[in-house]
Amino acid sequence: MTHASTDILIIGAGIAGLAAGCYAQMNGYRTRIFEMHTQPGGLCTAWERQGFIFDGCLHYLFGSGQGQPFNRLWQELGAVQGRAFVHHEELLRVRDTNGRTLIVYSDPDCLEQHLCALSPRDRTLIKKFCAGIRAFTRFDLSLLQQQPKTLMKPLDWARLAKHLLPYACPMATWGNRSAQDFAGEFKDPFLRRAIPQMFAWSSIPVMVGMSLLASMHTHNAGFPVGGSLEFARAIERRYLELGGEIHYGSQVERVLVEDNCAIGVRLYSNEEYRAARVISASDGHNTLFGLLRGQYVNRQIQRYYNGSLPTHAQLQVSLGINRDLSSKPHWVTHLLDKPVQIAGDERDELGIKHYCFDPSLAPPGKSVLMVMLTTHYDYWQRIYGRSLYHAEEIQEAQILVDQLEQIYPGIKADIEVMDVATPLSYERYTGNWQGSSCGWLLTKQTLPLLIRGLPKTLPGLRQFYMVGQWVEPGGSVPVVAMSGRNIIQQICSEDRRSFVTQIAT
Ligand SMILES: Cc1cc2nc3c(=O)[nH]c(=O)nc-3n(C[C@H](O)[C@H](O)[C@H](O)COP(=O)(O)OP(=O)(O)OC[C@H]3O[C@@H](n4cnc5c(N)ncnc54)[C@H](O)[C@@H]3O)c2cc1C
Repeated sequence: MTHASTDILIIGAGIAGLAAGCYAQMNGYRTRIFEMHTQPGGLCTAWERQGFIFDGCLHYLFGSGQGQPFNRLWQELGAVQGRAFVHHEELLRVRDTNGRTLIVYSDPDCLEQHLCALSPRDRTLIKKFCAGIRAFTRFDLSLLQQQPKTLMKPLDWARLAKHLLPYACPMATWGNRSAQDFAGEFKDPFLRRAIPQMFAWSSIPVMVGMSLLASMHTHNAGFPVGGSLEFARAIERRYLELGGEIHYGSQVERVLVEDNCAIGVRLYSNEEYRAARVISASDGHNTLFGLLRGQYVNRQIQRYYNGSLPTHAQLQVSLGINRDLSSKPHWVTHLLDKPVQIAGDERDELGIKHYCFDPSLAPPGKSVLMVMLTTHYDYWQRIYGRSLYHAEEIQEAQILVDQLEQIYPGIKADIEVMDVATPLSYERYTGNWQGSSCGWLLTKQTLPLLIRGLPKTLPGLRQFYMVGQWVEPGGSVPVVAMSGRNIIQQICSEDRRSFVTQIAT
């Protein structure tokens, strides 16, 4: 069955797809979004189990502070109005078995004092690092994404360069070092072990971690009360209010192309929808090699998907606990003396987080507790489809619970519900290739790609666009929402319309 044509069809109701839909509607385009799942948000999600809400995404939201970078974007998308945010004074703690603890304060003065107390002989390095964080409190990250690179005129580039110039030195110094590299510069043995964990992943460019602390310090990287799914639902509401149409349970099977021009989509239900333009806000690999049958890729794109760019997958064990943990620090990475074998890898550390800072996520007096580990997609894929997979899920969860018992004695008896999400869960629910949580992982190698941006159109294919985390290295919800915004600005420019935006009321 073929349906009447519209202006723009969007594949995927993740944050990028919803944002593209909102801005298209604001600019007078008629749009339809097709989403294979039954709810909005994609990776920006949470799930309910026996009265506990397990959040699968946001630790911090850039743009949570009024008047600060990215905040206007969220106001336009109706995502922050009336929403409370939790602003933590520390990102996390890293603790060894002797009780030595690195507290990652967001305030650079507190952090400097604390680090110097932990290791006076590393004072020079610490001072340089904290000075960098102070500098980044004035850095506007959103300027890098503020308009489509394709529309930037020499004057725009000059303006951007002028803003970046004062940060050229900190960017060159800290953009080119991972947390792991940075740790190697410390003399203190505890800090050499703890520093790689201070931003939760060791290959993160230090500059990105510093920007995160700087944004937390200026109260522009809070946790949205109610969690990630509620946050996504607010953008869905905005889209529907703007007159958009979402088709849930509608998986796109292919993009229809005539004379190298995208003309619509076909769903697995065999229904066909036509449009003047198609935007894919869904997984990059499936878009290129599934929906478009690999017909519009050049050698560079092939290289990306053949392994030249890294991805990131995680194992998340979520627990509903009949115990109030609110007096404990909310996020602690424990450095283990004896490594544990989990999902095929030896682990020297274990990141544990509770969500008592948002009481809406658990019944009164109870807590959500989460263990998060980086893992290999291939490991889970190899055992999938065999009874091994579920046995393995349970076994890994049990190993983690045994570890937890040593940290919180008696906790085993307080567990009311347990949920395991592997990279295959992320893949199944969101279609993301290799279960990746962010598209291409942000490392010192991929950071320049984030700044330059990847192409949003494909060689030889007209009226087709890509947005979201597979064309914005590092992903993250503000960056993918900007990706959706930018593509509509580009489309407006192609149609010689002025691009308009409105703050939601
Ligand atoms: C554990 C975790 C923690 C994170 N923490 C943070 C954080 O603290 N801060 C932050 O800013 N970001 C964080 N992120 C990253 C952020 O969530 C993602 O980068 C962002 O949500 C990606 O959005 P997207 O719209 O590009 O893609 P997705 O969310 O993947 O959306 C794509 C959508 O397309 C749909 N789809 C796929 N294929 C089809 C098809 N064929 N037909 C129809 N629909 C289809 C999917 O179901 C999905 O809804 C985190 C991610 C994870 C997993």
